[in-house]
Amino acid sequence: MTKRIGIAGAAGRMGRQLVAAVTEHPELELAAALQRPGSPLVGSDAGELAGLGPIGVKLTDGLAAACGGLDVLIDFTLPDATIDNARICREHGVRMVIGTTGLGDEQKAEIEATSQQVGVVFAPNFSVGVTLSLRLIEMAATVLGDGFDVEVLETHHRHKIDAPSGTAARMGEVLAAALGRDLRACAVYGREGHTGERDSRTIGFQSVRGGDVVGDHTVMFLGQGERMEVTHRASSRMTFARGAVRSAVWIAERQGPGLFDMEDVLGLR
Ligand code: NAD
Repeated sequence: MTKRIGIAGAAGRMGRQLVAAVTEHPELELAAALQRPGSPLVGSDAGELAGLGPIGVKLTDGLAAACGGLDVLIDFTLPDATIDNARICREHGVRMVIGTTGLGDEQKAEIEATSQQVGVVFAPNFSVGVTLSLRLIEMAATVLGDGFDVEVLETHHRHKIDAPSGTAARMGEVLAAALGRDLRACAVYGREGHTGERDSRTIGFQSVRGGDVVGDHTVMFLGQGERMEVTHRASSRMTFARGAVRSAVWIAERQGPGLFDMEDVLGLR
């Protein structure tokens, strides 16, 4: 059966790719394309913005009014907007796929509350390769243990507004859990000045911003006499869009509420 999909942030960098990915999917109908209230793009054709030509779906700014016609909302916007959208979706029983990054603890608690009412897939990175990388670094940290220093490096385009990336933060959580450490206590973000010797129980994060880099992540395990690196490089946002669309199909077919991520969608749990 056709699933009716809404996209929040449909005029954004990810939103335009999502419009293309939903439109190309045989089981999905793009039922709403939402943009920030007051945006001059409200009223534009979502397909034209995505470079597909007109598809007859205009950008609107009222999620509540659109909810009656939606099975799943895919949200790649800003943390505050995602939280507002989550409240509306849980009131209307609309499932969610959330890709927005940079949420604080209280905002994550709102997502958790939403997932007690409706099914939610929430992931900082919807690429299959990054999801697999999370498994690989977990295995590496478990085997290599405290004898190796761990550093997470990420590079993104100049427009990215949060750092470290949501993916790097998730990598940090996975590494800390595998090493039995508290990430809040052991994370070191950038280094400057007289830092002293490296504390072997820290996990370092370095963020590079510039140009049009879609998203590169490397986790380095630095030991005595050897070094291991796990690297993922995204060269197209379509990889995230297709993963989000795959998640939308998965959550639409699942009964009941719950909080899931891309590992659940790929059947890795
Ligand atoms: P962007 O700034 O290009 O797009 C965000 C869009 O959301 C903008 O068009 C903005 O006007 C719109 N918006 C803001 N408030 C809104 C509201 N209330 N309702 C509807 N639309 C609203 O940013 P982007 O590069 O597309 O990234 C968006 C988010 O997705 C960021 O948090 C980014 O880190 C994240 N992201 C996640 C993944 C993933 O795989 N999870 C991949 C890439 C980007």
